Amino acid sequence: MRFIIVMVTLILCSCGLTENNSPKNIILLIGDGMGEAEIALTRAYEYDGDPDLFVDSMQNRGSVIVKQLREKDPSKFQFTGESAGGATTIATGQRTSDGRISTTAKYGVALKTILEEAIEKGFKTGLVTTAIITDATPAAFAAHATNRYCFMRGDAICGEDTPIIEQMLNHNVDVMIGGGLELLKAKDQNGRLISQMATDLGYQVITERETLLNLPKGTKTLGIFAEHHMPTEWQGYQGRSAQVVPLGDDGRILYPKAQRCEINPEHQGIPSLEEMTVTALNTVTSDQGPGFFLMIEGALIDKQAHIAKPCGTIGAMLAFDRSVKIAMDYAKKHGNTAVIVTADHGTSTQVIYRPEVKDDQLDHDNMPGKYEALLSRNGSIVNAYYGTNNADDQSHTGVNVPIYSYGFAKDVPITGLIEQSDIYAVMKNFLFN
Ligand SMILES: [Zn+2]
Repeated sequence: MRFIIVMVTLILCSCGLTENNSPKNIILLIGDGMGEAEIALTRAYEYDGDPDLFVDSMQNRGSVIVKQLREKDPSKFQFTGESAGGATTIATGQRTSDGRISTTAKYGVALKTILEEAIEKGFKTGLVTTAIITDATPAAFAAHATNRYCFMRGDAICGEDTPIIEQMLNHNVDVMIGGGLELLKAKDQNGRLISQMATDLGYQVITERETLLNLPKGTKTLGIFAEHHMPTEWQGYQGRSAQVVPLGDDGRILYPKAQRCEINPEHQGIPSLEEMTVTALNTVTSDQGPGFFLMIEGALIDKQAHIAKPCGTIGAMLAFDRSVKIAMDYAKKHGNTAVIVTADHGTSTQVIYRPEVKDDQLDHDNMPGKYEALLSRNGSIVNAYYGTNNADDQSHTGVNVPIYSYGFAKDVPITGLIEQSDIYAVMKNFLFN
């Protein structure tokens, strides 16, 4: 009997030790501009409105209130968000104003980010995006700046701030993958090329997809593809975007014929978000050390919504959704890994009825925005609409954004209605406690 008790105690003890000593990991996936409307559009087009996105299968979900502060008077709110403010809030738990990278509104005090804290504690870290690597979302985890567009030296907007690319490299993030060949050609304070600066810091600088796919595990990587943002995987039929619906000479409406989206030929040779996700996971995975913090951004959901291109948004959404599955498969296989999927803010996409008409006459005053007709898989028409303005840059919207999660204890406040600033504390408690 005593022998059995000793054995049981030993087994329990060793289990406990293994649990405590295992690395703890967080994979945070941010769909930039991924409001419920962008998700609904994608679901309608690809799955005829059925709940067949991978994220639809995630059991724990909540809804996030998005708001930011005003720069001139931070006691006042702005009831929409943008990527710099949103990522700052997720990375630091503090709200800020438009365009700030992990600094406070008005006063510009640097806010410590979860990635910086993770590095201090010996965690591996990674940042992946389909935008330029210095874009607001990744930047807010590994830089501090007044203006999100202070990408590199020579950007007039920098003022006193060190350019974001130099700050990010000096953080020694283990893996960074995104767009921005232009960054590599910029120079640092001493006239040294940024590509050389990265090499001097121990990075393998990669610009070819094949090299990225065959990278040995654990390589400290700066992977840069495309001159600026990466091209989208999909484009509209013959490259078209949503348009103000025109009238023919006889006054009748010229509806665009509903079409399927096309593969964007410019994406050829560019790694997919899934491929970048797999590479980043290989780089930050280690049996030793406390674990890792990895942020993966699907950036083009937002950027294509800005220019009223529903197919670009849908292609980016589906790539993001497949990357979420990769993160979840990893978490289930390795254990001790939490996954959070959320967005920084919504964008202006709407799924609407076919434009209202009277006697075949379209009143543009009642239908002022941009319209595109897409064809779902079973041949239903998906009516996509952008109505925040008629210029070339659609607005963000103040809708709640979803949050999906995995790997947290039941009592962790990450389901139901939450505030964007709550996400930081949840991640911090998981990783560091
Ligand atoms: Zn945007």
